[in-house]
Amino acid sequence: MVQRIWQEFLELVTQEVGSRVVETWLKAVTLQRWDGIERIAYIQAPNTFVKEWIQSHYTQLFQQHLSRLLNVESLQVVFIDAHEKPTEESLSTNIIPAQRVDTVEQRRQLVQRVMHKDRSHINCNYVFDTFVVGPSNSLAYAAAHAVSEKLGVLYNPLFIYGGSGLGKTHLLHAIGNGVKKINPKAGILYQTADRFVNEFIHAIRFDKIHQFHAKYKDVDVLLIDDIQFISNKEQTQEAFFHIFNTLYERHKQIVFTSDSYPADIAGLAERLSSRFQWGLVADIHTPSLETKIAILKRKAELNNDDLPDDVAHFIAQQVEGNIRELEGALIRVFAFAVLTKQDVSVELAKKVLLRTRTEQSQQPVDIARIVNCIERRYRCSIRDLRSGSRSRKISQVRHIAMYLSKKLTNKSLQEIGGYFGRKDHTTVLNAFNKVKDQSQKDLDFKHILATLEREIVN
Ligand code: ADP
Ligand code: MG
Repeated sequence: MVQRIWQEFLELVTQEVGSRVVETWLKAVTLQRWDGIERIAYIQAPNTFVKEWIQSHYTQLFQQHLSRLLNVESLQVVFIDAHEKPTEESLSTNIIPAQRVDTVEQRRQLVQRVMHKDRSHINCNYVFDTFVVGPSNSLAYAAAHAVSEKLGVLYNPLFIYGGSGLGKTHLLHAIGNGVKKINPKAGILYQTADRFVNEFIHAIRFDKIHQFHAKYKDVDVLLIDDIQFISNKEQTQEAFFHIFNTLYERHKQIVFTSDSYPADIAGLAERLSSRFQWGLVADIHTPSLETKIAILKRKAELNNDDLPDDVAHFIAQQVEGNIRELEGALIRVFAFAVLTKQDVSVELAKKVLLRTRTEQSQQPVDIARIVNCIERRYRCSIRDLRSGSRSRKISQVRHIAMYLSKKLTNKSLQEIGGYFGRKDHTTVLNAFNKVKDQSQKDLDFKHILATLEREIVN
């Protein structure tokens, strides 16, 4: 539940403060725990710098939105730095529901416990049990499950890829939790690739390369999330290459997730991309309607909420395929029902979900904003897009940018062409038709487009 509230919070504030602030600051921290009795939300930051920044700039934002999402009138926000007083012991800190805290001393102990850092970075809420399996994710699920029971032998590395919000991170943590259950002493390390990059840069700056390598080479399971973020970081890739080889030779399990197939990650050294394919590459697709319904029912059940079949069906239809958004929609429906003291019904779900849609589509969009999102997602610059480059990747990204510009802005074909350095307006029209055709044939591509669109419109 904490996880869901947090996702919902991020979505909400993105509209208020913009995705840049969210990406830079708010995603650096997590809602570690909600103490429903004392009404304290514990927000964990990776270091003192982030903690202090967020504390001084965004405390009010946290108070305002979290109290709404958690359905309380007011709450206190306590910021904790993950590095304050770390101890050897790793404790699971996402305790739900909140424990009763009777004395000041107990409270102090609790805060201390929250501060203890789980060095594996495994989120104990993401387990195999709560992962709903359907045709879209069964291969990835089966492989992840098998790997967690037999480390380093079956598929090494295991590479899971698929669009955003489809359960990759969930599976990665589930592997960690699965391994922990079988062998509590196993050395497990979960890390996102962008944190890996930052850690590496930090290690170079502060002359800690040795410790850096030691940390990563001394594990039984290495779980790297969103590996595409090491693209174009040559030195990091070099370091990672050595870590990979060492672990692989020692038969230590390595698991990656990514938004695309290894060979399709631009700016990734060939020797890495080929290694990523040595084991098993498993993809996750967007879920079918049935799977979406099953997921909604499961989420409601976990939360002890009663979700009628027709409402589940309606919500599943409203959300294209991103499971994170599916969860968000479910939370909104239930929150609205509770706040207005109504039963959950299709009528009510319609009110909640259809309203947010029209609100979103009323926001004006300009081409620069589209390009901005595209640049971030595909890691290419407006210069690349305007260049004459005919490389497959650049052309495709350029087509997508043109498609979205035509679809989301009211600029003419000529204006759009001009923006991308093309004189002829038919180029834009061709690009538009091409992308449209492809999105009709390729569901995953359609999903990527939809995700981008939402990002732009939000
Ligand atoms: P990704 O890493 O692919 O972007 P996440 O693993 O973060 O996606 O999943 C987004 C949200 O959707 C998480 O809260 C996760 O628990 C949930 N989720 C994804 N797939 C499933 C599934 N098959 N069953 C249950 N929950 C799921
Ligand atoms: Mg993820």
